[in-house]
Amino acid sequence: MFIGHFAIAYLVYYLYPNIPFWVALLGVSFPDLLWPIFVILGIEQVKIKSNSPLQKDLKFTHYPYSHSLVISTIIAFVFGGVLSFLLNNWAILILFPILSASHWVLDIIVHRKDLPVLGFSKKDFKVGLGLWNHGRAAFILEYVFYVTFTILFAPSSLIFLLFILGTIFHILNANSFLGLTKKNLFAKGKYTYPIITLLGFGLFIIIASL
Ligand SMILES: [Zn+2]
Repeated sequence: MFIGHFAIAYLVYYLYPNIPFWVALLGVSFPDLLWPIFVILGIEQVKIKSNSPLQKDLKFTHYPYSHSLVISTIIAFVFGGVLSFLLNNWAILILFPILSASHWVLDIIVHRKDLPVLGFSKKDFKVGLGLWNHGRAAFILEYVFYVTFTILFAPSSLIFLLFILGTIFHILNANSFLGLTKKNLFAKGKYTYPIITLLGFGLFIIIASL
């Protein structure tokens, strides 16, 4: 999931506008910002099929830190603590791990059964409802969810920008739902896909916070 995560940032910022907007955006993206860095460092692993661009064909073989509920929330708590200290805003200490955990909860809807709950136990169990198996439905539902939350909860001065931004990024991401190309354009090398993920989330956050 991509733009859908930002819908939750708009809701949380609507309820608690005492944190900077960019912190809300960073919080909901946090697991998908950790993940590419951990993949590049060799701490986590993914298998990408070169003959399919679909998200359902990404095999997240090992991502116990960035995408487990418990470990990723602990990392977010530590990171949020540092951020709240630097910005002298203690609301961030509480809200940052919640924003990050919302990422995991929303990922359950689309991912196959590959999201670990604990992240540290051999007896860990994994969850995922697999909406990505139905690419067209997933594409439409994520967009409707994003647009609804943008209209209801985004800061009024930013609604139009965030609507356009979300639409552009969702269209750029369409191939991973709809399989328009027969090949995965980002399967080359070990680092292309993680770098594209990092760029996608990073650019969205930067543009939306301008
Ligand atoms: Zn994710």
